[in-house]
Amino acid sequence: MQRLFSLLVLVGCLFFGVAQAEVWPREARVPGGIALVAVPQTSSAPPQIWFEGQRVFVAQKSGKWYAWVGIPLDYKLGTTQAYWRTKEGDYPLDFSVQAKQYPEQRLEVEPKHVSLSKENLARVQRETPELRAAMDSFRPVVIPFKKLIKPVEGRHSSQFGFRRVFNGQARNPHSGLDIAAPTGTPVVAALPGKLVAKNDYFFNGKTVVIDHGQGFTSMYCHLNEFADLTLGATLEAGQLIGKVGATGRVTGPHLHWTLSLNGARVNPELFLAD
Ligand code: ZN
Repeated sequence: MQRLFSLLVLVGCLFFGVAQAEVWPREARVPGGIALVAVPQTSSAPPQIWFEGQRVFVAQKSGKWYAWVGIPLDYKLGTTQAYWRTKEGDYPLDFSVQAKQYPEQRLEVEPKHVSLSKENLARVQRETPELRAAMDSFRPVVIPFKKLIKPVEGRHSSQFGFRRVFNGQARNPHSGLDIAAPTGTPVVAALPGKLVAKNDYFFNGKTVVIDHGQGFTSMYCHLNEFADLTLGATLEAGQLIGKVGATGRVTGPHLHWTLSLNGARVNPELFLAD
C-alpha cells in the first residue's frame, strides 16, 4: 500500500512537472509583447484558447492556467479579447493593449536587398509562405521546458521592434533580436523542439526554424553554416544548430533571433533575464 501510494505521488509529480512551465516570460501588454492571461479552468487538462483565429500557448503556474498571448507588432491599441473554448461555448478573456513607441533605425545594405529584381521578388514570394507555415503552425504537443538558453552570447546590436529604413526606404519593422558575434560562433537551440525549416532564404539567409509545441516557435537567421541535422529532428535545448554568419540581408555577422507565439512575433528579451 505504501509503495502504491509512493508510486501515485511520483506519477502525479511527473504529470505536474510536464504541465508546469519552468520557463516564464515577463508580461508586456504592448504590440510585440505578451499578455499572460489567466484562464479560470480548474481541471488539469490544458484549456483551449484562441486569439484572432489562432490557437494560443498555455502553461500552468502555481496550479493556475495562463494563456501566453503573443500580440502582433501592428496590433490595434485598447481592449481586446482572447477566447476560452469550453463545451458550453466561447468565453471572452478581456485584456488591454497599451501603446509602445519603437525607435527608428536606418541601415545601409546591398542594393539588391532593397530594390528587388524580378527573379528575387519571385523567390521572396515563394519563400515567404514557406517560412510563415513553419513559424505559424500549431502542433498540440506539450514539451517540458527546463530553461531557455540564449542561442549565442553577444551584444544586442539591434532591438526587436525597430522601425526600419533600408537605404532610405521604409521596410517592415524588426521582428527579432540581433545578437552580434563573430562568424563561426556556435548557435544553439533556445528550447527543445522539432526542426521544421532549414533553408537558405533571400532576406533571412541560412535559417533554422524550431517548433516548441502549441504554436511557440523560434527562428535563427543569417547562419554561415548549418549543423548536420535533418528536417523533423527532435532537438534539445542547447543543441548546436549552426554557426553565426552574414548570409541574406545584413550589415555584418550576427544572429537574428525571432520568437513567435500564436503567429505573432514577440520580443525575445521578454524571455531573457533583466
Ligand atoms: Zn535582425
